[in-house]
Amino acid sequence: MYETNQFINLSEISLLYHDKSIVSESMWQTVCRAIIKDLREEFDLNIRTKRYDSLPESTRQSIRNYINLYKLILGVDRSGNIITYLDRNFETEIKIYYDGTCQGIKGYCPFDIDYKFLPALSFDHRLERYKTIVKREGYRYIAPKTMLGGSFNGALVKMKSQIGGMDLRCGNCHTFRHHKLYYFARIYNFLKLLSIKNIDKNTSHVLYSVNLLAKQYFEHTKKDIKLSEKNTPAQVLSRIRNQISRLVKKKYVIEYIFGENYLCPICEKVNINDHLTCFEAHHTNEALFENGLQKIEFGLYYTKSIKWLIKNLIAQECIYVCRNCHTMITAVNYNENALTILRNEIDTLYVNNFYDNLYKKVNEKRDIIIHWKSLLKNNMNTFPNPFLKMFDYGESIYSALICIYYICEIFSQDTKKEFFIAEELNYIQEKSSSYFKQYKSNLLDLEYIQYEKRLLQYRGFGFNKDIYKITFEGILKAKELIEERSGGFPDEFKELVSHWEHRNRKYNARKQRLSAFDIVLICIYFIYNKEIDFFMNAFHYIIDKENSYFSKHRKKLLNLEYITENQETANSFKEINITPKGITRAEELISLIKRDYFRKYQKLISDWEKRYDEYLMNHNKKNLKK
Ligand SMILES: [Zn+2]
Ligand SMILES: [Zn+2]
Ligand SMILES: [Zn+2]
Repeated sequence: MYETNQFINLSEISLLYHDKSIVSESMWQTVCRAIIKDLREEFDLNIRTKRYDSLPESTRQSIRNYINLYKLILGVDRSGNIITYLDRNFETEIKIYYDGTCQGIKGYCPFDIDYKFLPALSFDHRLERYKTIVKREGYRYIAPKTMLGGSFNGALVKMKSQIGGMDLRCGNCHTFRHHKLYYFARIYNFLKLLSIKNIDKNTSHVLYSVNLLAKQYFEHTKKDIKLSEKNTPAQVLSRIRNQISRLVKKKYVIEYIFGENYLCPICEKVNINDHLTCFEAHHTNEALFENGLQKIEFGLYYTKSIKWLIKNLIAQECIYVCRNCHTMITAVNYNENALTILRNEIDTLYVNNFYDNLYKKVNEKRDIIIHWKSLLKNNMNTFPNPFLKMFDYGESIYSALICIYYICEIFSQDTKKEFFIAEELNYIQEKSSSYFKQYKSNLLDLEYIQYEKRLLQYRGFGFNKDIYKITFEGILKAKELIEERSGGFPDEFKELVSHWEHRNRKYNARKQRLSAFDIVLICIYFIYNKEIDFFMNAFHYIIDKENSYFSKHRKKLLNLEYITENQETANSFKEINITPKGITRAEELISLIKRDYFRKYQKLISDWEKRYDEYLMNHNKKNLKK
């Protein structure tokens, strides 16, 4: 078949052949579709459409914007342009010189972008969080994109009004500047060295690194994050973790489809090892979306599984290009009107050549995706997902069950603690607090686990924990699954379990510390049982701590109505009584401590016992002296 890259201007054709004036964009689209259909069916032409939005008026507008941008960044006489801005203090001035080149990072753009790549250039406010700042000060925020509309002088005025000034940057450098997480050195190096081979070979290790890096990044940025009830450290951490794993998945899918060390096929200056965040999925076949099929904006979907991503990238015939080249691809008006915009024949020739090469390169990569598509048709489900390799999509419940089995049956062999709580499972699996909730009712329905009882939490207050146990059916199912998984993925499985075991030890070590508040309450209860008049100095003597030990918790004890104070006595002889509520609570705590930390509890009590005797002796001596 004869192929050509020839463009047909449908606006003109539709005006010629249709005896009506086209007044709206949707009407224009309808007419265009009809014409394309005719051309395809009547003349058997293979037509790929480029766009629908180039109503003559919108084309003119976009040309006007380019001309404005061109003059702003190069000066009306092409000799450069200096713009004077006000600094943030609204007093001092900042002068910024523009010569049409990307100002990159610290003055250097590794992608060689200048005015000939006009669509790829945009203004970037020097002030971080510019939008928030101007809004707070009561000014109107103007997005750099919208600044260019209208007359040149209007655009110039808008531009000069930007507090703190703006730099000219290409799209790629812009992502460098704003993607703080990616340019955190450890994360950057991790992603640079990461490849499909080490993900496939060592999945749990990669997961482990992602967690570790998330924690390091969290520590690094903690001071800048506003924590609140709706933005807890755990939530921030899990957001960071997701951000990193989105990048891992992005690298994986690009490598999977196009091979390692993938370069942007158009400029050949951007690669996935050094500039992962610059890559964007480009849909190579607009015709696919003419009949209502939704285009997937893949940038928003790296939360999905790798399997899903690969399948859909192929189905939608996408290739990866860098952000700069992607902008160039979509800027069709620019190529067609380069001479009008640049007013220079040599530059225009350069741009037209760039586009010729661009279409050629896009088609070369497109061949790869078309090849994949033919494979996809034959076998829909051959794509692996390293994160769910052991557990297929929708099988995470099995991962939870196996983990429960290990907690209740294997890890607890010396401790005889044959139950688990949600917090523990989530901690070991390094999941968010909602993880177990997702599977709880399912696991209960299948009778793989059973509800045991309510465990009262004794570290801090207010939360009670439910205890669950694995059932006999659960054990059988888990054993069956373990055999399957460890047979199919021997090394990975071993590694996963040893990782869980490590987390389990960590979780229990974390629990070894009783809160000081708990100890204070138990000590008060201890004294109460000795039936002595409880004065503060007695307490301090017995618990053997500096004086503030009690005062730190006094308010909380009173507020929770665990104790009452007799106001009439002098401060250090303030009489304290434990309430029935306090007694109940203390007894709960003691029974829990005895069960889990029997020896520790014994030691605590015998220490107190000793000092109680000493206290009594001193007390009696004093009384005798009197
Ligand atoms: Zn740049
Ligand atoms: Zn910016
Ligand atoms: Zn590129």
